[in-house]
Amino acid sequence: MNKHTFSEVIIKNLCAYYERKVIPTESARDLWYAKIRNIPDESAQWIVDRIQDTQETFPRNLPATIWGMYREWLDSHPEKQARQQRVKCPDCNGDGYVFAVLTDKDGHPHEYVFRCPVCDQATEIGIPYWDRIAHEAAGCQKLSQGEGIYGRVPLKDLTAMVAKTVNDALPF
Ligand SMILES: [Zn+2]
Repeated sequence: MNKHTFSEVIIKNLCAYYERKVIPTESARDLWYAKIRNIPDESAQWIVDRIQDTQETFPRNLPATIWGMYREWLDSHPEKQARQQRVKCPDCNGDGYVFAVLTDKDGHPHEYVFRCPVCDQATEIGIPYWDRIAHEAAGCQKLSQGEGIYGRVPLKDLTAMVAKTVNDALPF
């Protein structure tokens, strides 16, 4: 989505519809835009309509709401889904996986994979969602691309391991 579409179609319409007296600052809009820029322009108006039809107020987490509506758009436009099954998401590795490391009380690091809650593209069953606030509070650190297990462990093996153990490993 280009920036013009984001500000003219999405922000402007939502601010008007929800009578937002304070227009979001440019820095907030830039941060939001960075998170949704990979969503295609053609879905923008549909997303706006859907937000207006289903949300009582201006969304508290606009990028997450937009991603949720985009997934609905894909579901209701199966012909687009085949073409755009993978969208490049800035919150994960681009395929829907978030990698994180948790160091145990003996100082041994354990690496885990989570499902990205923003784009929700991971298809394997049983992978827990990455919950940044809860997992970071529990001592998990998100890995950046190139760190740790990125690209070194077959995802299939990793997800089998994670699905069984990650919830036991975390103290909540
Ligand atoms: Zn993602």
